[in-house]
Amino acid sequence: MSTVCADLVEATSIPEPETRECAECIAFGDTWVHLRMCLECGNVACCDDSKNRHATAHFNATNHRVIRSVEPGERWLWCYRHEQAVQW
Ligand SMILES: [Zn+2]
Ligand SMILES: [Zn+2]
Ligand SMILES: [Zn+2]
Repeated sequence: MSTVCADLVEATSIPEPETRECAECIAFGDTWVHLRMCLECGNVACCDDSKNRHATAHFNATNHRVIRSVEPGERWLWCYRHEQAVQW
């Protein structure tokens, strides 16, 4: 059995995104592949398959560790610090 890190265990309420676009990409006229949302502050940003990787940049800038997928049908969280995923 693999254990789930405390960051993911503590993420009991999963908020809905307030937007479905990456504001930072739009500001530069760029596009993205998938969207992720920071569970700590609600920031929506693009994934690592996207050119600008704004979700990872947000983690590096803020140390906000847990994101959820914003893609339809995807129900998972990811902890950057421990590099763990969990379904919800
Ligand atoms: Zn963690
Ligand atoms: Zn972006
Ligand atoms: Zn955040």
